[in-house]
Amino acid sequence: MTFTFVTLFSNLVEGYFNDSILKRAMEKNLFSVKYLNPREFSLNKHSKVDDTAVGGGAGMVMNPQPLFDALDSLRKEDENVHIIFLTPVAKPFVQNDAKRLSSKSHIAFVSGRYEGIDERVIEKYADEVFSIGDYILTGGELASLVICDAVSRNIDGVLGNSDSLTIESFESALLEAPSFSKPKLYEGLNVPSEYLKGNHSKIRSLKIALSECKTKFFRPDELKKHCQGVK
Ligand code: SAM
Repeated sequence: MTFTFVTLFSNLVEGYFNDSILKRAMEKNLFSVKYLNPREFSLNKHSKVDDTAVGGGAGMVMNPQPLFDALDSLRKEDENVHIIFLTPVAKPFVQNDAKRLSSKSHIAFVSGRYEGIDERVIEKYADEVFSIGDYILTGGELASLVICDAVSRNIDGVLGNSDSLTIESFESALLEAPSFSKPKLYEGLNVPSEYLKGNHSKIRSLKIALSECKTKFFRPDELKKHCQGVK
């Protein structure tokens, strides 16, 4: 699998792959990461990539030409590339998208900057458009990384223990039960006593009850879906 980050600021992205799980996955060739800078495709003599908005409005908008040419070159190189644009106005990215996208062979993330990207680019090249939440970031790089991280941990072999993927929040309507580490008693705080007794069926029942409490507290909307049998 290949991830291509189409960005004016690849240095904002690169560091994320220099450590931990994703670094190890790349060393095992489970996926690779490439960068494409639209500025390198600009035909402007000063390599400009943005201009004022047609029709007025604050701020600069990313021009179509450098992005058209960059994305044409990407599609020419690999006609199967799945091109995702990041924008705050799109549908929110969710765990099912992460799982579905992990079977693609090549995903490109197109990051906007300034006031965003000329809409014609999105209309022409987007296979999919995502937001990562109802707030405005300065650029799409963080949003691209969020999606790339969530997708890549669903690629076979990336996580040491694939069970981590099945017993997780958002796999069903119930959030994952609280987790505890050692020591069993720390600064007067105990882990639930049932967890210590080794009766796995009782631990399972307790975890389900705790999952329900946690979901009721943090995500009553998800619990409602669970009760209605939607998930
Ligand atoms: N003027 C735009 C608007 O009001 O919809 C916001 C542009 S934002 C400052 C610049 C870029 O950051 C966007 O083109 C997009 O790529 C990215 N971005 C900002 N917030 C985002 C979010 N919540 N999800 C995904 N991408 C986001």
